[in-house]
Amino acid sequence: MKNSMFKVPELKNEDIKDYLKNSNERIEVKNTYDSMYSQNIKIPLYIGEDEIYTDERKNITPPHDHKKVVGSFSVCNKQHVKDAINNSLSVKTQWTETSWQERASIFLKAAELIAGPYRSKINAATMIGQSKTIFQAEIDAACELVDFLKLNIVYMNEIYQEQPITVGEVSNRLEYRPLEGFVYAITPFNFTAIGGNLCASAALMGNVVLWKPSDHQVYSAKIIMDVFNEAGLPKGVINLVTGDPVMITDIALKNSNLSGIHFTGSTDVFKSLWSKVGSNINIYRDYPRIVGETGGKDFIFSHPTADSKIVSTAIVRGGFEYQGQKCSAASRVYIPKSKSKEIIQNLENQISTITMGSPRDFEHFMTAVIHENSFDKIVKYIETAKNSSDAEIIIGGDYDKSKGYFISPTIILTSNPNFITMEKEIFGPVVTIYIYEDNDWKETLSLVDKTSMYALTGAFISNDRETIDYALKTLRYSAGNFYINDKPSGAVVGQQPFGGSRASGTNDKAGSKLNLLRWVSPRLIKENFNPPSEYPYPYMA
Ligand code: NAD
Repeated sequence: MKNSMFKVPELKNEDIKDYLKNSNERIEVKNTYDSMYSQNIKIPLYIGEDEIYTDERKNITPPHDHKKVVGSFSVCNKQHVKDAINNSLSVKTQWTETSWQERASIFLKAAELIAGPYRSKINAATMIGQSKTIFQAEIDAACELVDFLKLNIVYMNEIYQEQPITVGEVSNRLEYRPLEGFVYAITPFNFTAIGGNLCASAALMGNVVLWKPSDHQVYSAKIIMDVFNEAGLPKGVINLVTGDPVMITDIALKNSNLSGIHFTGSTDVFKSLWSKVGSNINIYRDYPRIVGETGGKDFIFSHPTADSKIVSTAIVRGGFEYQGQKCSAASRVYIPKSKSKEIIQNLENQISTITMGSPRDFEHFMTAVIHENSFDKIVKYIETAKNSSDAEIIIGGDYDKSKGYFISPTIILTSNPNFITMEKEIFGPVVTIYIYEDNDWKETLSLVDKTSMYALTGAFISNDRETIDYALKTLRYSAGNFYINDKPSGAVVGQQPFGGSRASGTNDKAGSKLNLLRWVSPRLIKENFNPPSEYPYPYMA
């Protein structure tokens, strides 16, 4: 293997399946869903060769049917976390010395397994455990994860090819070593693909990883571990622990071998991780790399020249797909007075046709929000708007948690551009609209920039080229992913590398070379073919 070059996969995204009525893929995913729904699966911890089933367990309950128990996962103790880290470190040298071609082959096989035999399983697990519709599951758990696994191999190869110049008697090369210790991957509930990518990207670059998924994504995380196993990933390269996040994190962050944190989740948790690393800084051998993609308060700005139908569709898809539980979900919208009636009328027409229910029923555009805490938090914002003189609910505002955590798509209209729902991340199906005077569009753009501490995604919709240029300049730092005449969500690996700055994260762009660079510590190797044997330089003669 070392005596050959290796062609990396072509830069191509996984095709999205349609799941049309009576199609094979639709029948297969429904059958898989039904069998997984009645299985009562028991999920272990994955530590090296061992799959550990602890006595302390937590139930997995679908958000759309929260009284139903579909399985349980193991709750780890302190010793399990220490064992997982030590186990990873014990296989580190072997993994570091595994050629990149071998590592790439393992993750390519993982991608093929997900695209093929595991597709319906990983989609069904995401539908059951995270309440995604089949389309939302397919673009996340199947396609995005396959894309991450495949395209990262291309980016790894590009990094390895970046080499210094070799001149005359001196040869120079960069060896892209993995980090010296372990990487701690902490992942959110809302994307199966993020769970898989945050551990796999670091492992692909030769690192060993401790993975702590969200309690609300454990079902699909288990399928990912099955895939990695079947693909031939050596045991211990990625160890998975589930349980109390603070306890697990405190142990990981007090370990002198911590070399990196790969986090996606909320801003407050990320800040707490960063400050713990700061407090522990004297115990580490390395300065740990800290990569975090966090919250957002993503905007749509509609210029007076924009087509109202395009605006309302961007609001509905951008704000309500996956119940607004995407970090990129549109949640504050600025529309001009001259078009406001038309846009709101379109929204009423479109939203009145949206139904919610179990993802098992394919006609629904929306399902439930992830858990009771989230439901209660979102409801609080809705109630605040109902009781405020600055705001009114113009569409939706209903909720019911008797069977599942269902909240209807809700539009708040506010006269206060700094109303609480224009500033705070809600992470639910709630969009707030502010109407501006057409002539004030430039001032309102400045308002967009200053309203929230986040800077993740944003969209500017306009039919006037000059205004687009103006918006790009005014909103230079307002969003890490900026969309023109589109919704602000739905980034595709390889096409729209994803991430934001300010309180939204370190902007290391998941699904790109920039992210992979954080998981290597390059060593420069200079070799002199004709070393000098006397110290004086010629000018001294
Ligand atoms: P979360 O912050 O509650 O949880 C994320 C992870 O951190 C989970 O594994 C959780 O168990 C763990 N965690 C929770 N509290 C912790 C603590 N005190 N110490 C250590 N770990 C802790 O986030 P979530 O609800 O799972 O996901 C939603 C959030 O993630 C939103 O804020 C969303 O914007 C963000 N997100 C951002 C991106 C992005 O790319 N910017 C992508 C997806 C989600």
